[in-house]
Amino acid sequence: MKLEKAEKLMYILIIAMILVGAVITAAESVAVFGFVLCMGLLLAILVIYLLYIRCPHCGEHLGRDRGEFCPHCGKKLRENTPEN
Ligand SMILES: [Zn+2]
Repeated sequence: MKLEKAEKLMYILIIAMILVGAVITAAESVAVFGFVLCMGLLLAILVIYLLYIRCPHCGEHLGRDRGEFCPHCGKKLRENTPEN
């Protein structure tokens, strides 16, 4: 998986987790199901974060502060920087 795709997928999962969290808070009847779903999403986020948020050049983990360049090898991380 490419870095851009991994980041996008991770953000989608984080948003989904927040939404599920909000639903649990609002509706107690789905709390158990929502909690399990939340844990599943969290696990998926962790897997993507640990396995795919890496430099495409040197393979080092990038952590939370991901700029335009790799902090380990200094190479450019993205082919084309998105507009937003
Ligand atoms: Zn690197």
